[in-house]
Amino acid sequence: MIPGQFEYVRPGSLDEALRILRDREGEAKILSGGYSLLPLLKLRLAQPALLVDLQAVGGLDGIARTDDDWRIGGRATHRRILEHDGLAAEWPIIRDTAGGIGDPQVRNWGTIGGSCAHADPGSDWPAVVLALRGSFTCRSAGGERTLAARGFFLDTFQTAIDATEVLTEVRLPHAPGRTGSAYVKLERRAGDFATVGVAAVLTLDDSGRIASAGIGLTAVAETPFAATDAEAALVGVVAHDEAFGVAGGIAAGQARPTSDSHGPAEYKLAMVREITARALRLAASRAHGTA
Ligand SMILES: Cc1cc2nc3c(=O)[nH]c(=O)nc-3n(C[C@H](O)[C@H](O)[C@H](O)COP(=O)(O)OP(=O)(O)OC[C@H]3O[C@@H](n4cnc5c(N)ncnc54)[C@H](O)[C@@H]3O)c2cc1C
Repeated sequence: MIPGQFEYVRPGSLDEALRILRDREGEAKILSGGYSLLPLLKLRLAQPALLVDLQAVGGLDGIARTDDDWRIGGRATHRRILEHDGLAAEWPIIRDTAGGIGDPQVRNWGTIGGSCAHADPGSDWPAVVLALRGSFTCRSAGGERTLAARGFFLDTFQTAIDATEVLTEVRLPHAPGRTGSAYVKLERRAGDFATVGVAAVLTLDDSGRIASAGIGLTAVAETPFAATDAEAALVGVVAHDEAFGVAGGIAAGQARPTSDSHGPAEYKLAMVREITARALRLAASRAHGTA
């Protein structure tokens, strides 16, 4: 289908973009990579009066390591993130995730900010930011605020971002010592959206017990979510296969998949159990330095 009519602006600075979003609140929609929004426009599932294209806004696509955290610009593409060696060295989960998104064209255009702001339960980045207990920096003409990932994804395609805000940064903590992380995605064909995706991060203590755990799930509920019961069950436990199997079962207990073209709900629940255990196993072997 052909999209409905809309106005289009390409501001040259973030301040200008924020002014437009403030002045046209309720009418304007941000355009970043366009790889989620343009299909919606073509299907007329979104019909904004104005598109505010961020392409000419500089300074939003960097990846910086500070003493406190990693700061990934909201307009950093999947490809730019995939190719960042420093980030991948500290958080291998990032490369697992970025490398599995769509195809090269999608990775060249799609952005982490667009992916998180869009809040498609099938998008891969949200589960990762949830597992790592990251946060989102959002800016409006009135100022800036930082929102924890846990609490950010409110419903399908709905987040805590205000219509006048731009998601400017995704912040991830530094990995403590003896930490491993992994994203395992079950997909029908390479490059598909996930049938089930699991982001896992484990920090071990000196005795090999789990000091902290993070688990984020993709595509098995109305929003991406953290499997908090499974995380809690892992803390204090020796990192081994049996514990990971138990955690997978608990994570499935928190999932609410629906039957669709990816498969029946019961199949997805079985896959949550299995893929969670696999992601935890890989995270643990990375924490031990054996993967
Ligand atoms: C063929 C295909 C395969 C794909 N496969 C996958 C996959 O395997 N895994 C996966 O995770 N994704 C996949 N995607 C989605 C892709 O990663 C999108 O690029 C991404 O979800 C959205 O990013 P974008 O920059 O294109 O956002 P846009 O499409 O430009 O915007 C999406 C939404 O977010 C809002 N938005 C965008 N940027 C910001 C911002 N900085 N601040 C506030 N709001 C903002 C827009 O207003 C819009 O509502 C696929 C897409 C296609 C077309």
